[in-house]
Amino acid sequence: MDKSQPIIIVGSGVYGLSSAYHLATAGYTNIKVFDRGDYDNNEFSPLQGADGASTDVNKLVRASYVDKVHYQDLAVEALHDYHEWNEQLLKMPFLPRALATIQERCLQEGDLEPIFQNTGYIRLDDYENGEEERNLHNFEKAGLRKHSYDINNADDITRAKITGWYRALDPLNQREKVPTLTGVLDSFAGVALADKCLIWVRYLCERTGNVQFIYGPGKGEVSNLVYSAEDSLKVVGVKTVDGKEHQATKVVLAAGGWTPKFVPESLSPRLEAMASTYIMIQIPRDRRDLINKYRRIPMINWRMTYESNFRSDAVYVFPATHDGILKMGVNDHYWRNLVKVGDEMVSIPDTNMKLLPKQSLLDYQKFIKEFMPDLYEAGASIEKTKICFSSVGQQNELVIDFVPSYKNLLVCAGGGFHGYKFLPVIGRFTEGLISGKQYSHSQFFKFDYIDPKDYKPIVKDPEHEYALNSVEFAESRSKYYDY
Ligand SMILES: Cc1cc2nc3c(=O)[nH]c(=O)nc-3n(C[C@H](O)[C@H](O)[C@H](O)COP(=O)(O)OP(=O)(O)OC[C@H]3O[C@@H](n4cnc5c(N)ncnc54)[C@H](O)[C@@H]3O)c2cc1C
Repeated sequence: MDKSQPIIIVGSGVYGLSSAYHLATAGYTNIKVFDRGDYDNNEFSPLQGADGASTDVNKLVRASYVDKVHYQDLAVEALHDYHEWNEQLLKMPFLPRALATIQERCLQEGDLEPIFQNTGYIRLDDYENGEEERNLHNFEKAGLRKHSYDINNADDITRAKITGWYRALDPLNQREKVPTLTGVLDSFAGVALADKCLIWVRYLCERTGNVQFIYGPGKGEVSNLVYSAEDSLKVVGVKTVDGKEHQATKVVLAAGGWTPKFVPESLSPRLEAMASTYIMIQIPRDRRDLINKYRRIPMINWRMTYESNFRSDAVYVFPATHDGILKMGVNDHYWRNLVKVGDEMVSIPDTNMKLLPKQSLLDYQKFIKEFMPDLYEAGASIEKTKICFSSVGQQNELVIDFVPSYKNLLVCAGGGFHGYKFLPVIGRFTEGLISGKQYSHSQFFKFDYIDPKDYKPIVKDPEHEYALNSVEFAESRSKYYDY
């Protein structure tokens, strides 16, 4: 394809931004990224109203994937890039405001990790779930075993004392309470400051001069695809809510949970919008002791497994941010929000839901009281709650491919609850499709990588136990503070 031909990307989350970045650095000169989000003003921050899956304060970047080694490989590559971004950012003379502020603080404090922090990541459980053995086996094969610490392995414990990771092996103080405690610390992993990394990639795109960003309701929100008058399956552009049409030679759908609604009959069996909740706790700002304590924990998974992790007591906790925001999530359900699109019942994000499902709220309250009583006693408040929708592919696989039957239409979605980490690398596959190149691992993201006979049924019933349409919500936000 002629590199000056117009390319449109719908969605400016991880998948859209990464696609734009890889296309722009491969020399495509006419790329437009549309997003309904007001990202020029809210800077991708959920605390300022951004509501996508990618727009968050922090996300886990880990390479452990049990048997899915293709993701392990990509995550290892991404981790190298995150470290490189840290180094590059600290040296940049000119930066967007939000990044310049972080740069200044980091330079003053001697902090070398402005947007990716190598916090480590520990998975703890009260029984042997069998996954860790397979995980460690694949880490061994990839030369990564040295970064892992089995909390019940004497050699690993000795090694952790030498390398400095020892204090991260029991961050919830459960060793004495749970005799059957199991767990592995992955010191290779860490936490990306999610909104800041998005600003960074947007900035890298802008510097090429090849990408234009059109953000905000009206001008940035795509209402529908535009088809050729001669061929009803040939996409020739998009129409935005302000009524304008924008021509393109290729259109990339990277609209996260919203993606299937553009061509529901083709996409909705393969991709589904699912949601999970999380909360952000503000540790009192004058309690620097508590902020520092929780800043120094690794990212924690408690009783979560990769393969069967719906338990109301399965919880993840992120290290607190510099400002004392501590994010945590209960892995109780993957929720759907069912609406009719044409003839199809499709789960589409509803970002206006402000209250938590009642049961989830009770689970959060129970966990905080039991595991982090000092926060409870210090009067830490629940600053924000979110029902966060993501696009989940069949068998939790991404889809980066041309949409079957259509011409000029690509899809880049389906990262489920694990796709953020690939921000530095995932757009390469979109670029490969447009440039006609086969990159290693692209086969895993083909539409037909999963045989339709192996598809799990998509939830279409609004009465389903996982449908938010019929769930009981907490009555009011004031109840959140009663924990
Ligand atoms: C609760 C939760 C926790 C997670 N934790 C992690 C984690 O720790 N680590 C990790 O690696 N991954 C994690 N993930 C997964 C990760 O967030 C997603 O895989 C990733 O963010 C998906 O990016 P995306 O670009 O596909 O979607 P999104 O980030 O949702 O972006 C889609 C964009 O499309 C825009 N859009 C939608 N409709 C339109 C339209 N009509 N016109 C214009 N724009 C439109 C939206 O506004 C949005 O900005 C988590 C997901 C969830 C839900």
